[in-house]
Amino acid sequence: MRTGISPGADDVDRPPYAAAASGIVAKHAMSEAPFTVAGAMPAGSSPEQEQEQEIYEVRRKIYPRAVHGWFAGWRIFFVILTQAVFYGLPWLHWNGRQAVLFDLAARKFHIFGLVFWPQDFIYLTALLVIAALSLFLFTAIAGRLWCGYACPQTVYTDIFLRIERWIEGDRVARIRLDAAPLSLRKIAIKAAKHAAWLALALWTGYTFVGYFTPIQDLGFRALAWRLDPWETFWVLFYALATYGNAGWMREQVCKYMCPYARFQSVMFDHDTLTITYDGARGEPRGPRSKKVDRRAAGIGDCVDCQICVQVCPVGIDIRQGLQYECIGCAACVDGCDQVMDKMGYPQGLIRYTTENALALGYDAHEIRRRVRRPRTLIYAGVLIAVTGATIGSIALRNPLKVDVIRDRAALAREAAPGIIENVYRVQVMNTDETPRRYTIRAEGLPGLKVAGVEQPIALGAAEGRPIALRLQAPVAPGAEGRSDEGRGRADELTPGAHKIELVVQAVDDEGVVRHEKSSFIVPR
Ligand code: SF4
Ligand code: SF4
Repeated sequence: MRTGISPGADDVDRPPYAAAASGIVAKHAMSEAPFTVAGAMPAGSSPEQEQEQEIYEVRRKIYPRAVHGWFAGWRIFFVILTQAVFYGLPWLHWNGRQAVLFDLAARKFHIFGLVFWPQDFIYLTALLVIAALSLFLFTAIAGRLWCGYACPQTVYTDIFLRIERWIEGDRVARIRLDAAPLSLRKIAIKAAKHAAWLALALWTGYTFVGYFTPIQDLGFRALAWRLDPWETFWVLFYALATYGNAGWMREQVCKYMCPYARFQSVMFDHDTLTITYDGARGEPRGPRSKKVDRRAAGIGDCVDCQICVQVCPVGIDIRQGLQYECIGCAACVDGCDQVMDKMGYPQGLIRYTTENALALGYDAHEIRRRVRRPRTLIYAGVLIAVTGATIGSIALRNPLKVDVIRDRAALAREAAPGIIENVYRVQVMNTDETPRRYTIRAEGLPGLKVAGVEQPIALGAAEGRPIALRLQAPVAPGAEGRSDEGRGRADELTPGAHKIELVVQAVDDEGVVRHEKSSFIVPR
C-alpha cells in the first residue's frame, strides 16, 4: 500500500476517458441541425465556420488519489465520529426502550430521557435556527468546513472511495482497470466492489428506518421477511440514495444538486479562511530537479506535479483560484505539503489563508486576530443566545401538557334543575419518563365543579390520554353549592360565555401544574 506521494510518480494524467469526453452536441429537436448558442459567432460567419457549442458537459470520471496528512486525519476523525453516532445511536437503550426513537405512529420523539410531542415543534424550529447560525458562523470563519468534513455526501463518498480503493487499488490501478477490456477478473473485482457498496447502503437504509421504528424488532422482521411495505420502501429508498449518491454521482451532487455551493460565497468576506494556492510563491511553476536553486533559476515553488489535482475529489485545479466546486476538503493541502517536504521547500504553498492575508501580507497571528470581527461576533452572540435559550427552555419545561377542547356538539345543557353543564375533552400528556397521577379542578365561577371523571387520573411514562369531563355550575338565583374552589353562590351567572380555568396538577409534585383557559356557556 502506498503511504506517500512522489511528484511525477505514477502520473497517468490523461486517463483514457479524456479523449472520449468529446461531449454531446445538442441537436435542435425539429431540424436535427446542430444547436449553436446565439451570439457565439461573429456576424457574417458561414455555417462551416461556426463551432458547435456543447450545452451539456459530459461527466469526466474522477479517480481521486489517496492522500495522507494532517487534514486527511481530521477527515477520518469526522467520518468515524459521524458514522459511530449514526450507526450506533439506535442501538442504545434508555429506561428500557430505544434511546433515540422518532415514533411517528405515536407522534412522540424519544431522545434519551426527553420526550417531544407535536406541541414541541418550537424545539425543532430552534434546532434549525441553531444549525443555520452555526453554518453561517463556521462558513464566515473558515469557508466550507461543513462540506469538507461533516456533510453526509462528503462522508459517504469518502467511505465508498475507501472501499473502492481497497478492492480496486489506488488511482492508477483504477484507471487501468476501467480502461482494460472486459475479463473475468474485471467482472469479479467490479462485482465485489458493488456488492460491498450495496451491503453498506442497505445497512445504512436499515439504520435510517431504525430511527423511526424499534431497530431490533425491525431487524428480526427483516430476517423473517415480514417488513411492512412502507418500511421496505424506506429501507430500499435510503439504501439506493446512498449507493447512487456516494457510489456513482459523488461530486455531481455537490456541483449540480446542492444549493449550498451556490450561495456560500455570500457568507464569505475578505477575512474568511479558504483553501488557497499562493500564486506569488508558486509561479512561475515548472518541473525541476531537487538540486536546482529555484531562486537563481527564477522559478516558483510549484513543481507542476499535478498532485493537488489528482487528490481532489471534485477534480479541479486549485491553482486556478477559488472555484465554487471546491468543497474545502484540504486534500490538496496535504498532497502539496508532501511534495514540498520531498523537495525540501517550506509547507503551505496551498494552505488555509484569507484574501486579505495574501494581499496585505498578514502573519498567522493577524489572521487569527481577524477571526474576531463584527460579522463572526454577531453570529456567535446570536448562536450562543439561541442555544442557551433552547437548552434552558428544555431543562425547565413543564413535563405536563394539557389541551382543552370544548364539545361543540353539546354547548350547554341543564343537568338538573338550576344546574348547567358544559362538556369538554381534555388531552392530558405526561412527557416525563416516570408515571404520574393528576387531579383536575375548575376555577372561575362560583359553585363550578368537575364531574364525570374519576380522580386522580393515572398516566404512564410518556403517555397522553384524552379525557371527557363535564363542568357543572348552579345558575338559579341564590343557588349555593360545593364547588372545586369551595362554597359559592350562583346569583351572578348571566347568560353567555364565562371565562374559566381548568387546573391539572400532579399529585406528587405541586410544581407540575397547568392552568388552561376555556369558557363556560350559560344558555338564555
Ligand atoms: S501546487 Fe503543489 S501539488 Fe499542486 S502542482 Fe504545484 S507543487 Fe504540485
Ligand atoms: S481544490 Fe482542494 S480543497 Fe477544494 S475540493 Fe479539491 S482537494 Fe478539496
